Amino acid sequence: MKHLFKAALAAFVVIAVLSVCGCTADKFEYSDFFAMNTYVSVSAQGADKQILDNIRTAFTEYEKQLSAHYDGSVINSPESSDAESYQNTMILLKQAHSISEATNGAFDFTLGAVTKLWNITGNSPSVPSQNEISEALSHCGYDKISFSDGRFYSSDNKLSIDLGAIAKGYAGDRGMEILKNSGIANASISVGGNVTVIGSSPANLKCGTKGWKVGIKNPFDTSDILGTVNISDATVSVSGSYERYFTQNGKIYHHIFDSTTGYPAESDLISVAVICRDATIADALSTALFVMGYDKAMDFCNSNIYDIGAVFCTADGRVFTTDNIKDDFIPNTNAKLSSSAHIKFN
Ligand code: AMP
Ligand code: MG
Repeated sequence: MKHLFKAALAAFVVIAVLSVCGCTADKFEYSDFFAMNTYVSVSAQGADKQILDNIRTAFTEYEKQLSAHYDGSVINSPESSDAESYQNTMILLKQAHSISEATNGAFDFTLGAVTKLWNITGNSPSVPSQNEISEALSHCGYDKISFSDGRFYSSDNKLSIDLGAIAKGYAGDRGMEILKNSGIANASISVGGNVTVIGSSPANLKCGTKGWKVGIKNPFDTSDILGTVNISDATVSVSGSYERYFTQNGKIYHHIFDSTTGYPAESDLISVAVICRDATIADALSTALFVMGYDKAMDFCNSNIYDIGAVFCTADGRVFTTDNIKDDFIPNTNAKLSSSAHIKFN
């Protein structure tokens, strides 16, 4: 038996309708489209149609460059890609490599053989045999990728790059660059579970408060939230086992893999939200922290290798935050587990 569930966006901008102190500033313009296998939502104060179209075109281009599922992408056919696309992809690959090293493979951008074998989002996913998993895993490993003379090389011709855990954040960063270069100061871009914002939301601008309120989905009830974080010029990226999975013989198999086993990570977490100024890093690290599990992930945050904050939700319904975002996280104390017991905020 299988069941595949694709959750709604894991983080989203909380739209507050306030009727106080109206002002006559430029209107926010909105654009929603499907790209990179997810829903993208852009809101930007004073943006014209051309700017919003540019973002949509850019996202279609990133998908073509970075997709593991498109034969002509730069990562699948580097020889036939144009110089500019190649160089842009190289920058992301180097960043992915460095995060893979820093997380000791908890984030590993070379798991394509494993993710394709499991094909969690396919029509009828099922658990592969141990032999198939071992074979696929033998063609993974970020240390098989090297960089020299402006090119990237793989020492294993069966290795397959999968940027699914970092590409949406990268696209958010690049999209925000387009907006900033067009002179826009207040905007949000939501790409799947990644919300990147600059300046302030319409509601906050109206009452003179800085920032955006970003909701983090309750993984036990995705129609509700765990809480909100107030951020400005930053990203909230959420990874969770509830986002994409199937069940077989009563066991859940989700889409975030452990690069040491080739199986879905046996994490004590159900979701992790990472808050960071850089959306690419936020995206990669939300995946990595999920794989690490709560204790290692909290240690990793406290090690300050990266300047990040995090909201952890454990599989048994407890929420923890790193100290640096305690003042910015507002818990939803009514949030419940599937059993209707309350989630505990620590
Ligand atoms: P995210 O939703 O950002 O956590 O990314 C999950 C996606 O990244 C999966 O659908 C895979 O394509 C890929 N992926 C799964 N496990 C890993 C991992 N440990 N490191 C890097 N990418 C992964
Ligand atoms: Mg990610």
